[in-house]
Amino acid sequence: MRWSQMHIPTLRETPADAEAPSHRLLLRAGYVKQLMAGHYSLLPLAVRVRAKVVGIIREEMDAIGAQEFLLPTVHPAEVWQRSGRWETMGEEMFRLKDRRGAELALGMTHEEIFSTLAADLSSYRQLPQIWYQFQTKFRDEPRPKAGLMRTREFTMKDAYSFDLAGEGLDTAFERHRAAYLRIFTRLGIPAIPVEASSGAMGGSTSTEFMCPAEVGEDFVVHCPACGYAANIEKATSRLSPTEDEAGRPAPERFDTPGVRTIDDLATGFGAAAERQIKTLVQVLDERLTLILLRGDHALAEQKLIDATGASTVRPARPEEIQAVLGALPGSLGAVGVTSLPILADESLRGRRAMFTGANTDGVHLRGVDVERDITVGQWADLREAAAGEPCAHCGEPLQVRKAIEVGHIFKLGQKYSQAFGLTVQDAAGAPVTLVMGSYGIGVERAMAAAIECHHDDKGIAWPVSIAPFAAAVVVAQPKDAETAKAGEEVYQQLLAAGVEVIVDDRDERLGVKFADVELVGIPLRITVGKRGLAEGVVELTSRATGETERVPVAEAAQRVRQVLGAAR
Ligand code: ATP
Ligand code: MG
Repeated sequence: MRWSQMHIPTLRETPADAEAPSHRLLLRAGYVKQLMAGHYSLLPLAVRVRAKVVGIIREEMDAIGAQEFLLPTVHPAEVWQRSGRWETMGEEMFRLKDRRGAELALGMTHEEIFSTLAADLSSYRQLPQIWYQFQTKFRDEPRPKAGLMRTREFTMKDAYSFDLAGEGLDTAFERHRAAYLRIFTRLGIPAIPVEASSGAMGGSTSTEFMCPAEVGEDFVVHCPACGYAANIEKATSRLSPTEDEAGRPAPERFDTPGVRTIDDLATGFGAAAERQIKTLVQVLDERLTLILLRGDHALAEQKLIDATGASTVRPARPEEIQAVLGALPGSLGAVGVTSLPILADESLRGRRAMFTGANTDGVHLRGVDVERDITVGQWADLREAAAGEPCAHCGEPLQVRKAIEVGHIFKLGQKYSQAFGLTVQDAAGAPVTLVMGSYGIGVERAMAAAIECHHDDKGIAWPVSIAPFAAAVVVAQPKDAETAKAGEEVYQQLLAAGVEVIVDDRDERLGVKFADVELVGIPLRITVGKRGLAEGVVELTSRATGETERVPVAEAAQRVRQVLGAAR
């Protein structure tokens, strides 16, 4: 490929409003162009990287015995209604009607559609099956963000396993987990597997693959001592037992004028935050619900969703709260409340002599015995684990860091196989409902994550495995006939050796060409210039280390292959 012929619209200026390094660099280095928020055109360089990523994922999926499919992206509503997700997917699903008025969806995931195919399985002899595809997913994300990281239209490698029983699913899950670790290693993404919530997918166990990065939207709770790692949506920690003061026979009201917050009550009335009950009012599927936490704890919203199965959750508005409790946030409490469902965090179990609001503005209660005075309908783990808390497994302090979710694997169980009647005959001829797993990797998000891990102030520094070109030949003086000829020879030599190479034959200043090769992120630069040629050498420069070596012209291709092989 010749640079002069290729569409690589690099930008000199850093694009405004692109904050994530990968977003900025994809735009600046001429990989993508935005059509509208959340929708990007991939330009030729990006298409080459994407093909590499897809190739690596495909090799590893094939290696675990998976078979590649390609399913439609336009789906009839009826198929989504069978699983119940036509309703629960809500506004994230793009919906449309055809000319006859039939309701359709753009595929946001493919459990349902693969299930329509698995209906053709009839015997245990056909199991296990692992089916996958690379297909565009459409999601009307509330906040498309950070370039390719969160878009409304992206390629997913999605895979689905079908087994007779739980052990089969365990094996399929383990195979995917191992394959994913190989995939991310090959992509140059240091992803760590973490425990995760299964969210809207249904099912029991799920593992996310998280690439630590400042721009990540997820928080991973991690124990450096024992290796425990979980998404903050799911993470737990160990709480030190609390010694409560002796209780009182009954809660006692006291005036707290102007007290609005946990801090106000702590500083003004000596009620340490861990001795307070924080009362939140949330609307779960349109039903007002009281959520009780310790004063110093934060609610993990996903845990609330997981504990209740609610599909929508939002904080109640002040006027909604006042209408049922008679007070505004700041003085809320659950003592004596029977008209609303009450969910309490496990850390409040057995607690006595606690402080809480009295549902009268400017009045609080002391001496509250949680289990005696509050009608808790459900106890659950609802609090967000925090940095510094002891690990639940080994007691060492936990760390919290930001990460990008690049992959997610789920044990689905029978949610979809029941909805779609997926049964096969077992060895005895009896019908058995299949168990399923589902396994996703975001292809373009993986590209962005790789850039987040491999860039510097000059640009992208792709791992060789997914670089658009492994090497770039830069002709220093293209107008000098002899240098141009030597450059062409080196280029041909590399092509013949099977190196993916681009030759920068543009009539540009050398500095501009070097800067572009660095910006675009090509792992190895071969500079062909007058000075070197006088001594019969070309220069090999590594993008990752900046190191340069001089190599005899005739040996260029051989040395390039060696260097690239070692870097792979
Ligand atoms: P997130 O929590 O980031 O929204 P998700 O849990 O919705 O992700 P899954 O449904 O598990 O994601 O999809 C599998 C993979 O697809 C994710 O691990 C991620 O790599 C990718 N992905 C999901 N949503 C997007 C998006 N909007 N843009 C790009 N990639 C995405
Ligand atoms: Mg999502």
